[in-house]
Amino acid sequence: MHQRPPPARRCRAPGCERTVPSQWAAMCLWHQMRNRRFGDPSLTGCLKRSELKPYLIEVRRLCARGHEERTEHVFSGIQQRLRELAESTLAERLNAAAQGREWFRRAEEEIVRVTADANPVEAAHLIGALFLMRERVPRRWPTERAFRFDVVRAWRKLAGISYGSAWDHRLGKMRRMYRELRPRVVETVAEWLVTAYAPLVARLRAAARADVEEPKTFSDALAAALWPSFVQSLLTTSGAK
Ligand SMILES: [Zn+2]
Repeated sequence: MHQRPPPARRCRAPGCERTVPSQWAAMCLWHQMRNRRFGDPSLTGCLKRSELKPYLIEVRRLCARGHEERTEHVFSGIQQRLRELAESTLAERLNAAAQGREWFRRAEEEIVRVTADANPVEAAHLIGALFLMRERVPRRWPTERAFRFDVVRAWRKLAGISYGSAWDHRLGKMRRMYRELRPRVVETVAEWLVTAYAPLVARLRAAARADVEEPKTFSDALAAALWPSFVQSLLTTSGAK
């Protein structure tokens, strides 16, 4: 029997007139690429440093009210614990007969790599600033997923190794390029980060909201909330590992 091919479907992204490349695809190639890269088809770029800057300044100011050495100790503790957990999970995975999903392993490898290189204070300030910005400008990200893609991207950039090089035709020279992770790997890394930094984010949010002149209370509460064992239990219970 001769069957007529079904009419080409439209891309599901709002306002897009393009057709999908195959019967299984929901979006046109252009929107698929954006969805992979930014976590949402409606976005055309990642968060710019200048957009985040005011929130970074605010977070630094809030943290500066606390006991510097102690705050740094807490921030280092979060990152170190994150690294140790990713390393031990990775070691268990590589010893086991069944190694589990490939993207879990890739996510753990990426966490080990970035935590080895990133400055823990910068990392904490960055993640705090991102969450503060999302609270202040919720419409900046159409979805939680899109927000998390920016969190992971900005965090990876703290370690230079997130970059590869590529030839830029326009500039006529080699250019440093952000190396993309698969979306599933990004989602998994995000889960680890969001869980590990949740107590810090909660404290910062409360401090920013109240914006009270109580530096001592803030720093003590920060230290109490962020001991590595607490972060570990959070990661374990959330199933992030
Ligand atoms: Zn489209």
